[in-house]
Amino acid sequence: MIYETLGVPTIINAAGTVTRLSGGTMAPEVAEAMRQASLACVDMVSLQAAACRAIRAATGAEAGIVTSGASAAVLLGAGACLAGLDPGKMNRLPEVADGRREFIVVRSQRNMYDRALVVAGGRLVEVGIPDRYSGPGVRDASAWEIEEAIGPNTAGIYYLAQSQSKPALHEVAAVARGHGLPVLVDAAGQLPPASNLKSYLAEGADLVCFSGGKAIGGPQSSGILAGRADLVASALLQMLDLDVDPDTWAPPAEFSALSQLRGLPHHGIGRSCKTGKEEIAGLIVALQRFSAADPGERLAKLRARVQAMISAAGPDGLSITDTPVPMLAWSVGESARRVAARLWAGAPPIGCNMGRADEGVLLFNPMAITDEQAGEIGRRIASLR
Ligand SMILES: *Cc1c(COP(=O)(O)O)cnc(C)c1O
Repeated sequence: MIYETLGVPTIINAAGTVTRLSGGTMAPEVAEAMRQASLACVDMVSLQAAACRAIRAATGAEAGIVTSGASAAVLLGAGACLAGLDPGKMNRLPEVADGRREFIVVRSQRNMYDRALVVAGGRLVEVGIPDRYSGPGVRDASAWEIEEAIGPNTAGIYYLAQSQSKPALHEVAAVARGHGLPVLVDAAGQLPPASNLKSYLAEGADLVCFSGGKAIGGPQSSGILAGRADLVASALLQMLDLDVDPDTWAPPAEFSALSQLRGLPHHGIGRSCKTGKEEIAGLIVALQRFSAADPGERLAKLRARVQAMISAAGPDGLSITDTPVPMLAWSVGESARRVAARLWAGAPPIGCNMGRADEGVLLFNPMAITDEQAGEIGRRIASLR
């Protein structure tokens, strides 16, 4: 086992597919696809064309590419909104000579991942007063407030997809369409349900970003950018190695929008988001498996894993939370943080989800653990009660 060789202890990751705890684990078929991909060389554009076909089938998008994560997909998507199919603009990013660099964002949707837009050259313009969160009111932003913020420097609208996100995406998309502006949706963690692979695009998103290393079960450093063919092609071009002869370089049919270019740009803003052939192959296989899986069966399997924790621990203070991902909720009380620290200090360390620690509840997410580890979690809970 490689981690033993390296002297790195393995952990039980019940926090979910979080990056700091190395995401999740991959199915043998996904790991095998990565292994096979590592044994031969290919032209990266033709591999991304294959990814495009697989993403098209899974999402209904016109086009798609594999990125090095959802954050990279946001960065590349922003680059596409800023530069379009203009190689001169691509070369200048993150500088935007014409000043058309603003992305409108609803204030309550601001988050630490949105800086990827700024890295690409964008600037965020906030709208709305989310006083339903702060308490003195009941409202958030309305679609007309987004419309009011649109001006000559607007490059697009950024939307964070969450169950509580307001206004509804289809209202935002209608405003954007009226002004010929793209909507870029960060839906990194909005799977399951698998139907969300299609729903944001169906609601009018021009580009949507998913993590490959979360529920899809792909490589930890993979993601998806899917949507309008011209924008996806622009994003791809800004990530590719472009030390090529412009006279002989020809894009495949999947990225035919690139044949309109008046010239080829140099290495783009996405060069530091390089995605390897192994990640692309692994993500394609993971996405096909995720799309083909029966949602009811997936849910039943996760639920059974939570049930196994409860069986091993005994039911005191334990319950199962709601979908989309059923989790074990342990009502610990005031000492929740101390108990979590003891779980982490044990052997093997158990990492849990602290999202409700302030209420004295520790959550155990079944997505990134094995069936055997579910029993171990239950026994450790019992020993700490
Ligand atoms: C996880 C997450 C990301 C980052 O995804 P990576 O695939 O790790 O780059 C971005 N945005 C949101 C909302 C996320 O939850």
